[in-house]
Amino acid sequence: MPYRAPVVLLLVAFGAACHSAAVPQGEPAPRRRPNIVFVLADDHAAHAIGAYGSRSARTPSIDRLAAEGQRFTNAFCGNAICAPARATLLTGRHSHAHGVVDNAAVFDPSLPTFPKALQQAGYQTALVGKWHLKSDPAGFGYWEVFPDQGQYYDPELRSPAGTRKVEGYASEVVTDLALEWLEERDPTQPFLLCLHHKAPHRSWEPGPKELALFRDELLPEPETLFDDYTTRSSGAAAQEMSVARHLSDYDLKLGRPVPKRPADLAEWRATYDSENAGLLASPLEGADRTRWNFQRYLKDYLRCVAGVDTSVGRVLEWLDSHGLAEDTLVIYASDQGFFLGEHGWYDKRWMYEEALRFPLILRWPGVIEPGTVDGHLVSGIDLAPTLCELAQAPALPGTQGTSLAPLLGPTPPATWRDAIYYRYFEYPEPHRVEPHFGVRTTSEKLIEFPRLSATEFYDLATDPHELHNLAASPEHSARVAQLRQRLAELRLQFDDVY
Ligand code: CA
Repeated sequence: MPYRAPVVLLLVAFGAACHSAAVPQGEPAPRRRPNIVFVLADDHAAHAIGAYGSRSARTPSIDRLAAEGQRFTNAFCGNAICAPARATLLTGRHSHAHGVVDNAAVFDPSLPTFPKALQQAGYQTALVGKWHLKSDPAGFGYWEVFPDQGQYYDPELRSPAGTRKVEGYASEVVTDLALEWLEERDPTQPFLLCLHHKAPHRSWEPGPKELALFRDELLPEPETLFDDYTTRSSGAAAQEMSVARHLSDYDLKLGRPVPKRPADLAEWRATYDSENAGLLASPLEGADRTRWNFQRYLKDYLRCVAGVDTSVGRVLEWLDSHGLAEDTLVIYASDQGFFLGEHGWYDKRWMYEEALRFPLILRWPGVIEPGTVDGHLVSGIDLAPTLCELAQAPALPGTQGTSLAPLLGPTPPATWRDAIYYRYFEYPEPHRVEPHFGVRTTSEKLIEFPRLSATEFYDLATDPHELHNLAASPEHSARVAQLRQRLAELRLQFDDVY
């Protein structure tokens, strides 16, 4: 039977306006500050997780985390590319406020972040894997990160001691390093471990243990693989991120094999060589080639996801075997979502659902009811204030988010935010996605494209795939005006006014 934490215990645990003297006699002692394991995948769409409804993904360990914890179904990033979204998770600020508006910007290492706050509050802090913010990580007692995007096979890792090459597959290498650090940490103090995967980022190079997945299978296609972009602004058709036309031979594994070691190379060849030979012998065109590209792309993406899932399983087993599962908050998230053929696309960037939504699962036995599904509107700016509150660290200066701690208890608050804010900047390279900003409520979305003087409005309840832009519909003009006003308010609230 699930354990439901007493409200008073939760309040103490969350550092709310309640002190230990308020705990009635006979109640359990106040919960200690949790250890925190923050697993962050790169470009892992929520709809590529079994627990979020994927028909194809193999994610038993992430699904276990969801079954034992709380799964947020409406967690949305504020800018769907890597560096801005990551800086947002660290600082609790939107892109314009932390300054990393695109992937070219350098993160200001002097900004307040949750790892710094937790370190100052007595946590041992570690970061392994993807960083992607150009400046050196700050706030970590130990860090070892991939330079820039890093490599999948035999990756280089950068640390204060310099750069070294580690033999192996990236998702396994960072997991090994994370578990080594856990073994060597001081067990008397709480810890924050940031285990940040490269996978399943482009160019989706699966590990040797996952290469055999999906061979000779046909994965289901999304309904919008052949979207023609009617009713949308002109930007949707002008992008350069289509499965049909913009995947390179390298992306599609049509060039030289990546692995060097013989066993890895044999797995690689067994997966790709005969399919590639078949394509060469009988070239495909039009929709047939798009379908071939889609199968190759999605299988590789999901193979990379399976490698991340194996890593999650190893971490959960380590916590179990060391008696730490009860004392540890485990978070699984991605920096943003990704298109898995929807609208004919790979990549992210757009405010459309598949890129906007990111997976967010929290497990904390004794506090979070197992199997909780939470539909509150959550933003990437919320994670940093949440972790500061749960770790009983001081609030971060400049944070724009709201702590999710009240949502983790048995009685969620009666009121919550009605809308989230989004803004995408990076243009024209690398994918010619028009800059845009917008607002999403629980059931609607308004997007403004300032360079195009275009607006899009979607009723997500009746049009979940966002195929019918209703911005010009007289029937919806009043609602469009209201959402424009709400968007203007959000821009004022977050001081994103130019
Ligand atoms: Ca990313």
